[in-house]
Amino acid sequence: MEVIARSGLCAVRARRTEAAIKQRRCLMTLPPNLSGPAQGPRRWGRAQDRTVTDPYKRSGKLHEPTVCPQCGAVYHEGRWQWSARPAGAQEELCQACHRINDDYPAGIVTITGDFIVPHKDEILPIVRRQEEIEKAEHPLNRIIGISDEPGRIVVTTTDIHLPRRIVEALKNAFDGEISFHYDEHGYFLRAEWQREA
Ligand SMILES: [Zn+2]
Repeated sequence: MEVIARSGLCAVRARRTEAAIKQRRCLMTLPPNLSGPAQGPRRWGRAQDRTVTDPYKRSGKLHEPTVCPQCGAVYHEGRWQWSARPAGAQEELCQACHRINDDYPAGIVTITGDFIVPHKDEILPIVRRQEEIEKAEHPLNRIIGISDEPGRIVVTTTDIHLPRRIVEALKNAFDGEISFHYDEHGYFLRAEWQREA
């Protein structure tokens, strides 16, 4: 079993993570009339509503400036950004690193279909590229791990925006079908891209 992972996330662990998440979340899939991408505003569920925030986000205000000791992101002017470490910065783990350490994704992308086996070398760079673009602007939106399993590739992310970007890029490149399943009650998104040969 080939495993591609940046943070040591092996295929077995990914499956275990998914099983744990399924157990923790009672409503993974919206009713059919809300789950398709062409259903109107409610299709995104409360996870896209600004009132639903990442539970990993610190509730109190962070000292400014603060540096994440793990990734080097700097909290300044009310948001995390990439910049040189400012003098006198305090240190605190950002929520993305916190999720990575806990191996607790906010997003899961599942890539399936006969098409993926002969085109893996084209698919994976697109996935990586979308992370680069997203992360450059939003330091907390990252890939936790990529596991290459028989018949599917599973990408876990620290946020709910990167999965959408990844599957839309794959559809733009290769066509295929995409679907989204938002957790109505929490900060979680499952995105899928599928193409048969
Ligand atoms: Zn960090």
